[in-house]
Amino acid sequence: MELSRRNFFRMSATAMAGTTAGALGFGSAHAATVAARPYRLSATTETRNTCTYCSVGCGVILHSTGDGSGNVKAQIIHVEGDPDHPISRGSLCPKGASQLDFINAETRVTQPLYRAPGSSEFKPVAWEWALERIAHLMKEDRDRNFIADNAAGVPVNRWNTVGFLGGSATSNETAWLTWKVARALGIVALDNQARICHGPSVAGLAPAFGRGAMTNGFTDIPNADVVIVMGGNPAEAHTVGFKWVVEAKTRGAKLIVVDPRFTRSASVADIYQPIRPGTDIAFLGGVIKYLLDNDKIAHEYVRRYTNAAYLVKEEYGFKDGLFSGYDAEKRSYDRSSWDYELDEQGYVKVDETLRHPRCVFNLMKEHYSRYTPEMVERTCGTPKDGFLEICALIASTSGLDRTMTSLYSLGWAQHSKGAQNIRTMSLIQLLLGNMGMPGGGINALRGHSNVQGLTDLGVLSNMMPGYLQMPSEAEPDLASHLKTRAFKPLRPNQMSYWQNYNKFYVSFLKSMWGANATADNDWGYAMLPKLDGIYDVLRQFELMSQGKMNGYICQGFNPLMSVPNRAKVTASLSKLKWLVVMDPLATETSRFWENHGDVHDVDSAQIQTEVFHLPTNLFAEDEGSISNSARIIQWHWSAAQPPGDARYDIEIMSELFLKLKDMYAKDGGANPEPIMKLSWAYKRPEAPTAEELMRELNGKALADLPDPADPARVLRKAGEQLDSFAQLRDDGTTASACWVYAGAWTEKGNMTARRDNSDPSGRGIHGNWGFAWPANRRILYNRASATPDGKAWSRKKSLISWNGSRWSGADVPDYGATLDPAKDAGPFIMNPEGVGRLFSRGLMNEGPFPEHYEPFESPVANPFHPEVQSNPASRLFKADKEAFGTSEQFPYAATTYRLVEHFHYWTKHQKLNTALQPEEFVEISEGLAKEKGIDSGDWVEVRSNRGRMKAKAVVTKRVRSLNCDGKVIHTVGIPLHWGFMGVAAKGYGANALTPFVGDANSHTPEFKAFLVDVKRVGPAV
Ligand code: SF4
Repeated sequence: MELSRRNFFRMSATAMAGTTAGALGFGSAHAATVAARPYRLSATTETRNTCTYCSVGCGVILHSTGDGSGNVKAQIIHVEGDPDHPISRGSLCPKGASQLDFINAETRVTQPLYRAPGSSEFKPVAWEWALERIAHLMKEDRDRNFIADNAAGVPVNRWNTVGFLGGSATSNETAWLTWKVARALGIVALDNQARICHGPSVAGLAPAFGRGAMTNGFTDIPNADVVIVMGGNPAEAHTVGFKWVVEAKTRGAKLIVVDPRFTRSASVADIYQPIRPGTDIAFLGGVIKYLLDNDKIAHEYVRRYTNAAYLVKEEYGFKDGLFSGYDAEKRSYDRSSWDYELDEQGYVKVDETLRHPRCVFNLMKEHYSRYTPEMVERTCGTPKDGFLEICALIASTSGLDRTMTSLYSLGWAQHSKGAQNIRTMSLIQLLLGNMGMPGGGINALRGHSNVQGLTDLGVLSNMMPGYLQMPSEAEPDLASHLKTRAFKPLRPNQMSYWQNYNKFYVSFLKSMWGANATADNDWGYAMLPKLDGIYDVLRQFELMSQGKMNGYICQGFNPLMSVPNRAKVTASLSKLKWLVVMDPLATETSRFWENHGDVHDVDSAQIQTEVFHLPTNLFAEDEGSISNSARIIQWHWSAAQPPGDARYDIEIMSELFLKLKDMYAKDGGANPEPIMKLSWAYKRPEAPTAEELMRELNGKALADLPDPADPARVLRKAGEQLDSFAQLRDDGTTASACWVYAGAWTEKGNMTARRDNSDPSGRGIHGNWGFAWPANRRILYNRASATPDGKAWSRKKSLISWNGSRWSGADVPDYGATLDPAKDAGPFIMNPEGVGRLFSRGLMNEGPFPEHYEPFESPVANPFHPEVQSNPASRLFKADKEAFGTSEQFPYAATTYRLVEHFHYWTKHQKLNTALQPEEFVEISEGLAKEKGIDSGDWVEVRSNRGRMKAKAVVTKRVRSLNCDGKVIHTVGIPLHWGFMGVAAKGYGANALTPFVGDANSHTPEFKAFLVDVKRVGPAV
């Protein structure tokens, strides 16, 4: 039966009527049957797992048939929320609640499929044949294109003609195994979903605070007095997390929402104001000016915990939209002038009176003096009065007994200046003293269930696990790599925790190469690939489009729908020699060669790419851990086997690796050394377990570890799991694949599997649920919740304090546990200054203070400096620049977003979600509808300079037309979610329209602001 929306409701109503009748006892015969019937789920096995969609990480209970015995095949028949889970407390949103449909989707692939060059069909093949063929193709390409040494003779071990995209819902253990295999082969073009979504979070937060993760967590939100939602719509995209916002409101908090659309989050806001897409820095810069002009800052906090008092070099400057040091030809800056003045000892010069004209505080004041309320209105279209009302509410948290928390997601991240959008809020939260405080912080709401974990594990072309950096070819040996990362403290007595980088790095190399990493061979450093640039997703597809990439592997990733400019993506995939898709579902990427009429019109015969679809497990069939947005690593258990011949990602990666290893052992080839020497000490080499891999991530002692404070005492015996990263050494006596995960699996057992949901402090800490990296700290930078001498700033906001000999309180101190406050070490322990950075030195590519730049396609000239329209340092390739449209051809601003009923391109495989939101549509304002003669339900064509889509129009008050710089700006809202695979009606996908340009720091694409034209093409049907 075709399940239309109407049928769905009819069915639901019938089912409900039956249930209600039974429950109320209507009809004695029926009631007797009900009474005699056992509880339907009583005979099932309950298995704890985690929702596979967004990274709120809600707990789910999977009910499967049978009792788990070896001779019984389990089938999952019911999914419900886990009432014990401290974040979700039994709730699931429309996506999570219908995961049974995902598990049993009819579009799940159950056997390996192969598409020959030029063919118009997939054919089932045997696993052995498929894996042999893929290994053969990989080896052939690697042997032909491997770069052992660069032109200067430096060993670089690089294989850059094959790329790999990691998934966003695979477990941490899968991610680690994938990393090992890919890097041992020399793959540099290794990236994951984070590059498409939250890359700017790490790039924007770390330069301020030292780490790039969500700071506080969902259960902390009710501690806030003000919640600002800007750059996101958590009521729809992080629905269960949003219930903590509702709880904050019931406790008296005020909710601010700023968004181009009146969203579901906005519908419960105390203040909502609209904003033109891509103008958030102008808005937030205006807030900074307001706080400074009205003296609404936390003075002592700012003076002691930020770099406000630090002096900046005389050569630093900003003029007409550009900072000092710009090279227009290279589209990049010489950032040497963006730094502090140092004294003879190498410490930063400071002026604690904040009077020096070149102290950060005064430079910041000067920089944002242009961001008047009038300029905010002119640029953003936000009415001045509404803007000032928001400023006043934000300013109400400048006293340290009140806090504001910021919730954002891709509405800030997916811009050509995404990292700077986020950084602007960092400045505000530092000025208000809201960092490290309960109910404060900046909460980066990660979009995918384990995109945080994949980021932690460095599945990004320039990263290694634990936020260590991939070596570049300018660093031929380990000493040269470590030299630039020594991070000597910039003020006396600072922890500057990255000083331990060498311990993390050597311990990592010991995990990677095992006994093959010795002091004599530089711990195997030479075997790592060395970068000659960043191979982010945009560059990967650019290389493909130029015919410079031959093979590509997508593990749980669907780039045909997720990478901008679908025409370019299709053309690029068509130039590949081979493509491997590892996915539980039939995805658009694995079928990119197939003609689907107007929504995907390709000529299969012309596409010579050999395509493999390897069917994999999904979350419900998997054991392992995933890390939610709040850095909480949660273990989950498998409730059933993957269907048909589908296999585990870990097994597929292992088998491919072992095949390649055999081939190199037998036949030789390009640089087999890293392959042969990769540590692979698993009981079953072809199927390492999640436990083995998580233990490896945590790390262990390789020799007895004496206590540095008392050498007679042994901290950990050889072979024992480490307790924390504090035990790591750089002498080869410890191994740890991901230092930030140290503590996750200790001698006490699997800390990520802990399920104690108690919260003794009542602060929403839940410290014995799972394991939060680093060191099980739930609120980052929590030392800042206390005064410099260690007392809580306010009793209402106390978190940790100094008791005379150690720090104690509700949370694990993000600080030395016995570090006396008299030493004056700052609370931002990863930064060599010890303080939060209002001025980011040379850590951001487009400037040390965020500046407003227009989106690359914008309906107006930049009101601040029309001659520097857009981010001068963003990721931009020549051909893509030529594909930009002008506002004359494409007069309307456009933005993309998610709906509560769908998760990206996954839930269109689920009947329930499809019934709720069956087909592609766009939202337009009443004003635009009137101008263009469009009625709700009409078919419209939306065009950008890169492509088109045909969709239903929804004419709505939710999208307002705004007045910017004297021009009426109409915005077109384009939800994601539709494509040509699955059970939903076919659609074009938003990336048919979006531009191929990326953030300057993370290269995340600009999905949230571009130009389109709209016309009516037919009546409602
Ligand atoms: S999609 Fe997110 S909010 Fe919804 S149930 Fe899953 S984890 Fe929870």
